[in-house]
Amino acid sequence: MTTKRELSETNALRLSSGLPLLVAKKRACLKCGVKFESDGCHHRLCASCTKDNQAVEAAFITGG
Ligand SMILES: [Zn+2]
Repeated sequence: MTTKRELSETNALRLSSGLPLLVAKKRACLKCGVKFESDGCHHRLCASCTKDNQAVEAAFITGG
């Protein structure tokens, strides 16, 4: 089980460890192409497409 940490919280830890801060990069959504602030390379879909994906997955799992 992984919990996504807030970027600011991650950066506070990185700062105290002497690591460079992470910067949210603008990225084009892979699904709809809209520009959004990406948390990192794992983050490829905008908020609305992420929500869509979760709805599709839920429907698939429940068969509805
Ligand atoms: Zn999108």
